[in-house]
Amino acid sequence: IDGFLAWCRPGFENDCAQELAARDAALATGGYARARRDSGYVEFILADEASATRYDRALRTDALIFARQWLRLHARVDRLPATDRLAVLMPAIRATGLTFADAWIESPDSTEGRELSGLCRALNTALIVAMKRERLIAADSRWRLHLGLLDPATALVAVADVAHSAPWPGGIPRLRFPRGAPSRSTLKLEEAFFVLLDAGERERWLRPGMSAVDLGAAPGGWTWQLARRSIHVTAVDNGPMDAGLLESGLVDHRREDGFRYQPARPVDWLVCDMVEQPRRVAARIGDWLAAGWCRHAVFNLKLPMKKRYDEVMLCRERVAEAAAGAGKRLDWRARQLYHDREEVTVYATLR
Ligand code: SAM
Repeated sequence: IDGFLAWCRPGFENDCAQELAARDAALATGGYARARRDSGYVEFILADEASATRYDRALRTDALIFARQWLRLHARVDRLPATDRLAVLMPAIRATGLTFADAWIESPDSTEGRELSGLCRALNTALIVAMKRERLIAADSRWRLHLGLLDPATALVAVADVAHSAPWPGGIPRLRFPRGAPSRSTLKLEEAFFVLLDAGERERWLRPGMSAVDLGAAPGGWTWQLARRSIHVTAVDNGPMDAGLLESGLVDHRREDGFRYQPARPVDWLVCDMVEQPRRVAARIGDWLAAGWCRHAVFNLKLPMKKRYDEVMLCRERVAEAAAGAGKRLDWRARQLYHDREEVTVYATLR
C-alpha cells in the first residue's frame, strides 16, 4: 500500500480525512481517504510511491491539525490467527526492507481499540524479541515500526521517521496533572508548549522574567503554567482567580473584557482560552500580533460546529490577513491536542 495512517480523536475522523484530502488536492497526489466514524483513525491511500513520498515531504513542513500521529502505511494484514500472530506479521515487517530503532504495537483510541491495549502490550514484548533475533532492530536506525492493531485479527504495518513524529504511542502524551494547578485545562497549555514548540524554542521563548497576558484566565490553569516558569502574567477575566496564584506575586488579575483589554506595553506572550466564536478570537489575536502587543500567541479555538476544518482554515486566513496588513508573514501551528476536546490549540507568531 502507498498511503498514510493517522491516529486521531474518535469522532474527528471526518475532519482528519477532509484535511488529508485538502492536502492531496493541493499536491495533486491522487489519493482518497478511508474513515469510519468513532474509529479513532483514518487511512489515506495515495496513487503510487512517488505521490506518497511527495505527500510525506509536505507533511514534514506543515503538520496535520487533526492527527495526533501520522505514519507511512506499508501493508494491511487481515485474518491474523488467534495464536502466533507474529508468524504472519514478521514477513510483512521484513517486506518493508528497513531496520528499526524501536517497534510499537498500538490500537486506536476508540472504545474497541482501548480493549486491545492488553493484547498490544503482550504482543509488543514478543515482537521486539523476534525482531532482535532477525536483526531488524538497530539503535541507529531513523525509523520506528508501528503496528496498528485495529481488531484482534487485523493489523496495519506502518513506519515513522523518529525525528518527525510524535514520541508517544498513539500520539498521546501521558502528562501527569501537576499538583497545585487550579484547573485541568492546565494540561492543554503544557501539551501545547510540548507539541507546538521544539526544545530550542521552549528554551529561548519561555524564560524567567518574561511577561504574558492571559485572556479568559479564570480559574488560572494556563496562568499557572506561565507563573511556574517565573513569567509575569496579567490575568484578564471577570471570574475569580485561584488564590494561591494571586499570592505568588507573579499574577496581576484584571476584571475586564478580554476583547477590549490592551496591554500598557508589549508582552512576550499572549495566551487565550476564552469560550467564544473562533473567528472572533482569531480576529482579536490578529489585532494583537499585527499591533506588536505580543511576540508569541497560544490560543484555543472552540469548534462546536460541523465544518470544523473549514472554520480553522478561515481563522488562519483572518490572522494571515492581519499579518499581511502589518507587512509580515504568519507562522501558524494548529493542532487538536490530546487534551483538546471539541477544539484545537494554535501557536502563532509573525516574522
Ligand atoms: N484557561 C483557563 C484555565 O486554565 O483555568 C480556563 C478558561 S475557561 C475555559 C474560559 C474563561 O473565559 C472563563 O473563565 C470566562 O469567564 C472567560 N471569558 C469568556 N469571555 C470572556 C471575555 N469576553 N473577557 C474575559 N474573559 C472571558
